[in-house]
Amino acid sequence: MKTSQKLTLADFLPVVPEEYRDFVTKTSEAMIKCGYKQKIEKKASGLAATYNTPECKRVHLQFWFNKNILSINLHPIFFTKHNGFLDDLPVCIVTKIDEFRDCRHVADPNACNPKCYECKFSINGIQYHKCNYNCISVEVNGESVGLLSVIQ
Ligand SMILES: [Zn+2]
Repeated sequence: MKTSQKLTLADFLPVVPEEYRDFVTKTSEAMIKCGYKQKIEKKASGLAATYNTPECKRVHLQFWFNKNILSINLHPIFFTKHNGFLDDLPVCIVTKIDEFRDCRHVADPNACNPKCYECKFSINGIQYHKCNYNCISVEVNGESVGLLSVIQ
C-alpha cells in the first residue's frame, strides 16, 4: 500500500508505547544530527522508522514492530560507525552482538561471501569482526534504551 503523502516521525510516534516515545524522539534527533537520513515506512508488521546514510543504502538502525513489540534492528555497520563509543552499550545489546555470526574472513580471506565486507569494531577491549548480513534485533525496554548514550 503506497501513499503519496510522505510519512514523518509524527506519524510513527503515536504507535510507539508512551514510555518509549522520548527515547525514540531523542534517538531520531541524534541520528539525524549524526548525518543519517530518516525514513518512516509501512511494513507488514506495522510502521517502521529507518535510518541510513546517503553513502550506504543498508539500514543502520531501525525501529520496527516484532510481533507487536517495539524493537530495534542494528546492522553491524552501525557499530563500526560508532566504534570508540561502544563501551557504554547496554549488556543486552552486547549479548546479541556476541551471538551474531562472526565473519569467516578472519580465519580465511576466501571463506566468506566475496561481497561481505567485515564490520570491525571493539567493545570493552574486545575486537569484533562481524558479517555485514542481517541485523541484530533487540526489544526496546528499560535496559536497551541505554543505546542512546552511544549515539549522542
Ligand atoms: Zn563475512
